[in-house]
Amino acid sequence: MGLRFVSYTLSSKDVPRKWSLVAFLPGCNLRCKHCHNWRLVVGEKGYIFEREVIQEASQNPIIDTVVLSGGEPTVHSPDRLRAFIERIKNRNPDVKVRIDTNGYNPEVMKKLVDIVDGFAVDIKAPISNVELYEFTTGTSKIDMGRIRESIGVADQLPLTIYRTPRYPWLLQEDIEEIREFTDDLSSPWFLNEFFEVPSCPFNT
Ligand code: SF4
Repeated sequence: MGLRFVSYTLSSKDVPRKWSLVAFLPGCNLRCKHCHNWRLVVGEKGYIFEREVIQEASQNPIIDTVVLSGGEPTVHSPDRLRAFIERIKNRNPDVKVRIDTNGYNPEVMKKLVDIVDGFAVDIKAPISNVELYEFTTGTSKIDMGRIRESIGVADQLPLTIYRTPRYPWLLQEDIEEIREFTDDLSSPWFLNEFFEVPSCPFNT
């Protein structure tokens, strides 16, 4: 059985200067405050089968990139993720594939690094600040080594980017620390606008 997605949408914003098909997978291994897709994370939405996503990706000529988003794509079986990506690329070898990830599953990223064109890795707080990372992600005993490992896997792939929402609890010195950390990486970093999600159950 293939992957079951929640939905997909066309976007000109997710990958710079490209039209992408962004496909959303359910579930996540973190519980971030103000998560925009918390309903996907807790499984409150219905499902569509991967063949619908593959069909749209192969039939719509403006699609340049397929983005696997969520939720957190890497909580799904790496074999199923690989099979899905292979089907996309077999139908159209010119289509690029990027996986959006919170970087907390480097083992799965390693299993897919040879077949994807990049990852969008979240850096939710300074890598040196475990407490702030735990606060932001609603997750105790977070292992920062896993985030570092994921960055090591993703860096240098052509479509890899790093992203940080400008959470209101990040101080300017936190932002500067993330900026300095990412300056030493090969792929670009983006500081994104923060949008409050009052309905998110992970806020408290
Ligand atoms: S990593 Fe955080 S923000 Fe992203 S889907 Fe999971 S809980 Fe939401």
